[in-house]
Amino acid sequence: MEVKWNDLKSMTLEELTEAVEESGEKKFRAKQIYGWIHQKLIRKPEEMTNVSPGMINKIIKAHPFYGVEEVERLESKIDGTQKFLFSLHDGNIVESVLMKYHHGNSVCISSQAGCRMGCRFCASTLLGLSRNLYPSEMLDQIYAIQRATGERVSHVVVMGTGEPFDNFDALSRMIRILCSPEGLNIGHRNITVSTCGIVPKIYEFSDTNPQITLAISLHAPNDEMRKQLMPVANRYSMEELMEAARYYTNTTGRRITFEYSLVNGVNDRKEHAMELISRVKGMNCHINLIPVNPIKERDYKQSTQNNVAAFKNILEKHHIQVTVRREMGRDIQAACGQLRKSYKERSGNV
Ligand code: SAH
Repeated sequence: MEVKWNDLKSMTLEELTEAVEESGEKKFRAKQIYGWIHQKLIRKPEEMTNVSPGMINKIIKAHPFYGVEEVERLESKIDGTQKFLFSLHDGNIVESVLMKYHHGNSVCISSQAGCRMGCRFCASTLLGLSRNLYPSEMLDQIYAIQRATGERVSHVVVMGTGEPFDNFDALSRMIRILCSPEGLNIGHRNITVSTCGIVPKIYEFSDTNPQITLAISLHAPNDEMRKQLMPVANRYSMEELMEAARYYTNTTGRRITFEYSLVNGVNDRKEHAMELISRVKGMNCHINLIPVNPIKERDYKQSTQNNVAAFKNILEKHHIQVTVRREMGRDIQAACGQLRKSYKERSGNV
């Protein structure tokens, strides 16, 4: 059953309409309020100039106005990527990234404060999970960045800190609001959700027939190696995961993305590329190779450029669609969770 989020920005237009009517106000007020929040992207309820203060008070009493507040912003000198640190109403910190591409502005958001998945190479999980984010807190990362830059956000990737399928109901609701015509009206095709591979949720997600791009973090061609890198591999076998991936492509007709972080001497050999090919052969997929971004707490090193190129070549020879992810914001700790962790260390909050 879906949790009922009670805060204003997490409410769907239908719920807001119900709440407005219950408070004795006219129905059209709900659409007005929803527009202020999700299109005009107000920072405070008082900014709703055509709604009476009395009514704002009434609504806010029942439905608090949660969002995010910028506490730090870094801009990469290399590629203009911007990293934002936001605080939440309870003092938790999350991070988001703005990447500017020729096709538009893409925002990478966090789905949880921290993460409990324990992937070995990832900084986001080192301090564990603080809590799930509300739909409003995911949305407001996008809204705050659009407000701060004055530029439209056209693409959203749920690939920041956290495991989106570990916060599934909030994610679904966030997407619904984000794509609503009365909100930012972002198309499914401009959204990517990345999961470490929570198999039952891949099925549940597929069954809603989203036209959203699903990315699965694979990082290894077999169970044994995957278990060393990602504890979630102890819960779901590679075979189960690939079956779920096939279900997604068959149900939605969409190409699936596999993320594969290349770690020097661990998963980057020719035989690993061959094994990976045997796993994905015949599937409507694309492989995104990511030279691992080393974190100081772990001893994983990036594959050499030669090894990355050789790995890519093998896949290409076997007609697998593959790209090497352009590294963005290296100089501003843009790897998953690095900035949040260093902020918490700096502020003595670990
Ligand atoms: N929990 C989700 C989304 C967040 S992580 C998932 O696992 O997919 C986003 C992507 O970055 C994942 O593919 C993750 O494995 C990868 N990643 C995390 N830390 C990394 C690092 N230090 N170097 C390279 N990729 C990393």
